[in-house]
Amino acid sequence: MRIPLDKESPTPLYAQIRDYLRASILAGTLPPKTRLPAARQLAADLGVSRVTVESAYADLEAEGLIVRRTGSGSYVSPQAVPAPARQKGEVDWPLWQKELAGAGDLADPDDLDGAGVSLDPGLERGHPAGRPHGAKRPPGFISFTGFGDPRQFRIEDFYAALREVVRRDRVACLEMEDERGYPPLRQSIAHILTSQGIETRPDRVLITSGSQQALAIVTQLLLKPGDTVLVETPTYDWALRLFRAHRLRIVGCPIDAQGMQVEALEPLLQQYHPRLIYTMPTFQNPTGACMSGHRRRLLLELADRYNVPILEDDFAGDLRYEGVAQPALKALDPGGRVIYAGTFSKLLMPGLRLGFVVADGPVYRRLVEIKRVNDLAAGSLIQRALEVYVTVGRYHAHLRRLIHAYRRRRDRLMHGLAEEFPPGWEAAPPQGGLFLWLRLPPGVTATGLAPLARARGVDYAPGTRFFPAPDEGEAYIRLNFAAVPPDEIDEGVRRLGQAVRDALEIRA
Ligand code: PMP
Repeated sequence: MRIPLDKESPTPLYAQIRDYLRASILAGTLPPKTRLPAARQLAADLGVSRVTVESAYADLEAEGLIVRRTGSGSYVSPQAVPAPARQKGEVDWPLWQKELAGAGDLADPDDLDGAGVSLDPGLERGHPAGRPHGAKRPPGFISFTGFGDPRQFRIEDFYAALREVVRRDRVACLEMEDERGYPPLRQSIAHILTSQGIETRPDRVLITSGSQQALAIVTQLLLKPGDTVLVETPTYDWALRLFRAHRLRIVGCPIDAQGMQVEALEPLLQQYHPRLIYTMPTFQNPTGACMSGHRRRLLLELADRYNVPILEDDFAGDLRYEGVAQPALKALDPGGRVIYAGTFSKLLMPGLRLGFVVADGPVYRRLVEIKRVNDLAAGSLIQRALEVYVTVGRYHAHLRRLIHAYRRRRDRLMHGLAEEFPPGWEAAPPQGGLFLWLRLPPGVTATGLAPLARARGVDYAPGTRFFPAPDEGEAYIRLNFAAVPPDEIDEGVRRLGQAVRDALEIRA
């Protein structure tokens, strides 16, 4: 144990030790029943006499904070109750911290991916970005936010893969991995992509911590504060937050059922000179729109003419329920125009935190460098386990299972909306992906509806979150149907329909 002691201080050393331990016990950092070091050991560690430590322990025992058992040692008392956490305002933060506190939040104060339902205020209050991803909603609460459905993942197979890797590779699976990612995994990714029309090689694939890191390293490499990034409006909320964190100017190009309105792009390119175009051509988040083949080609042509790199975020392109498969922009890339970001999160498990970039030309090497300065390399064990798990055949089998399940959920949601919602809403069933983008009946706003929906035990992602400008998107909500089991979809839509009626009634 390392206790900071000030030998020059007028406070005796035993009192300094006592005060430090008391504060740790009351703060809960030394929880009840924690074994304290033996007095002789602590004295040796701190360079003080054993009597000094004994005196500190004796005081704490007298205060009821520790118990001493002869022959077994000293423990934090099971009855020691941590004091309530100090409120932020009580600490006199240094000026640079105060300045940070005054800066705008990147995340909504009470949310990461939900509509801000407050479930465990104690847990959320201290969390750096609102509700932590793992936060549970109360029993019976139905959430149309979030990711894919982890219940579709064959955890036993993954467990077997983990065991196999540890048995096969021994400590090699705990050593630092190749900074570009575990080579056989890059090989598998190249195979999977090639089977989907994106011809690539392992030496053009870089494994990242989720595709979010792919977006982050591309941003770090290509843009500096004040530069312009061009996005679809609406667009993926955490990309917007990333761009804001980099202090970029965000310019939006509107989207319709055929994806980004590429016909409107040229004047924007001329006026704003963006350094990057960020797009999700296939089953866009949040609208579910899929860019037409014509627009894909036009986008590539314009980006080439204006010398702007394209970042293609293909987070759910494989989850197609109907319609014709459109080639990825990367598949149409004559070479080095498109940086492609993919992920295993939507198909497998978001908690694996494994995604990848595919890039060719000098940019590849630079991206590897940026990834490396950020976190040296992706975790070895998890990459190896994924490589064993994700054979091309298994990937496609898993994909077929998901498509079957999610298509039914989408249809169930559409059916539920038709049955349960008051008239005036609009939504086109997406041909793939995870989301339904719903226009609320006139007069109902996403922000106004949120507390009413929560009160009825359901939530969604409000449209406002997906626009660069804070005053846009009130007419929309995004519903994730993929993560919700079918019977909960029925009940969730019923509750949401009631909440919409509540909102209309309040207005009337
Ligand atoms: N892109 C899009 C469009 C997303 O929706 C997400 C996750 N919500 C990501 C990227 C990042 O996902 P991950 O880091 O888990 O791969």
